[in-house]
Amino acid sequence: MILSANNIHKSYGNLAILKGVDLEVERGEIVSIVGASGAGKSTLLHIIGTLDRPDQGHLIINDVDVNHLNERKLSLFRNQHIGFIFQFHHLLPEFTALENVCIPAFINGVPKKEAEKRGMELLERLGVQARADHKPTAMSGGEQQRVSVARALMNNPSLILADEPSGNLDSENAASLHQLFFELRDSLNQTFIIVTHNEELARISDRTIHMRDGKIF
Ligand code: ADP
Ligand code: ADP
Repeated sequence: MILSANNIHKSYGNLAILKGVDLEVERGEIVSIVGASGAGKSTLLHIIGTLDRPDQGHLIINDVDVNHLNERKLSLFRNQHIGFIFQFHHLLPEFTALENVCIPAFINGVPKKEAEKRGMELLERLGVQARADHKPTAMSGGEQQRVSVARALMNNPSLILADEPSGNLDSENAASLHQLFFELRDSLNQTFIIVTHNEELARISDRTIHMRDGKIF
């Protein structure tokens, strides 16, 4: 099991957002999380991604009890084990595609040459190697999203968290992004937890989790 979340609670002020969420995910699973806006999906994904801490409950990722890590250890853990893909890709505008993809490796202290070699392999795998020297504004939305997926994969994370990854893509680009997730799972056994409104993605996932009013049902 790669993830075990147990009785997760989270409030903002006195507004309870997560009200006792339990979730277990096996390595190599592709799990979709669906539910109405405001159900708490993004909040749950942030907590699983260790970007935010739960008020209550246990969270074990890769056999590590992450609640017990201090901020420094937590950020190292996150950078090593978890990849993030967002709807709005958050690429840094002043850097090229290759530089953006290499940033997680630089943070880990990987030498520039080695990072760039792997960065180019990833861009190639994602079919955007021709864009390596372009800045984000010179690329289409689909290309930018592929670059951000390459960045998420840079440190070879075992767990990839995606929040509406295809929300900003046309149906053709969305389908090819989803196909890529399955290819990565099949070749590298990576695990995906994906918040999505895309019905096709939910349909082809290994498992679909429904959230309503801060709970999984
Ligand atoms: P979903 O992703 O299912 O749409 P969210 O997890 O984004 O749901 O949000 C659930 C609720 O939590 C919403 O009402 C939202 O306004 C609130 N919320 C989310 N993040 C914060 C925050 N940082 N501070 C206060 N309220 C928040
Ligand atoms: P397959 O078995 O589908 O051929 P491989 O695991 O052999 O897949 O990798 C194919 C390509 O993916 C290689 O060029 C490799 O450099 C690249 N690759 C390696 N690690 C990753 C990763 N974490 N994410 C995406 N691509 C990767």
